[in-house]
Amino acid sequence: MTFVVLTATALLVPVISQAQWKTPWDYEGKAGAEHWASLDPDYAVCGSGKEQSPIDIQATQKAELPALRFVDESSPLKYLINNGHSIRVDYHAPGSGDWLIVGDQHYQLTQFHFHRPSEEYVHGKPYDMALHLMYEASDGKVAGVTVLLKSGRANTTIQQLWDHMPMTPGKEQEIPGVEINPAGLLPRDTSYYTYMGSLSAPPCTEGVTWYVLKTPVEISAKQITAFAKLYPRNVRALQPLNGRIVKESR
Ligand SMILES: [Zn+2]
Repeated sequence: MTFVVLTATALLVPVISQAQWKTPWDYEGKAGAEHWASLDPDYAVCGSGKEQSPIDIQATQKAELPALRFVDESSPLKYLINNGHSIRVDYHAPGSGDWLIVGDQHYQLTQFHFHRPSEEYVHGKPYDMALHLMYEASDGKVAGVTVLLKSGRANTTIQQLWDHMPMTPGKEQEIPGVEINPAGLLPRDTSYYTYMGSLSAPPCTEGVTWYVLKTPVEISAKQITAFAKLYPRNVRALQPLNGRIVKESR
């Protein structure tokens, strides 16, 4: 049982990590990742940034790091969107009842979405897919949690989403009668790698604290195939570390 004191400021509407895009972009082709910086001045840091994501997690520094505390609850499934880049679940004002607590910092879940394969590599290899849970604190600080997904048993929570997955890009949809709990997407063991990076899509904003959970979660081959029909490869290339250190919790 986790008890959390929520201050009034902690309930402010989060915005940074839930942006829609005024300038279209893509993973490949003319608006592909190598061109993001020149598509829009707001995307400049995609090219000039020195702390970009994703990365290949190789050498790490083991450290005594605070445990990640996830506080999740079931809530009606709304705002499910196929945004043209992934399948995403958004949380609007007054925000989700879902929190990530790291030490003294409280982050509220703003959205989560999927990549195939994983954007992050671990020791030179990607996983079959990855889930990115994006959080924001009342002071505007953004944290991303990566759950690596590997082929195995079907995931019930993912199936709830896939059952209602919009097949073509469009607006957010409310799905009546369906409740989901993001806790169903997390591994039991939440030990992690952490590093400072960025949003891995335009505008590539830096200052994002990433927590990459070391324990993958299983997803069935059928569930991977269903996502791949919409998004066979929605990943940005690995970015240089530029001297950043990846810490690993014990
Ligand atoms: Zn992502």
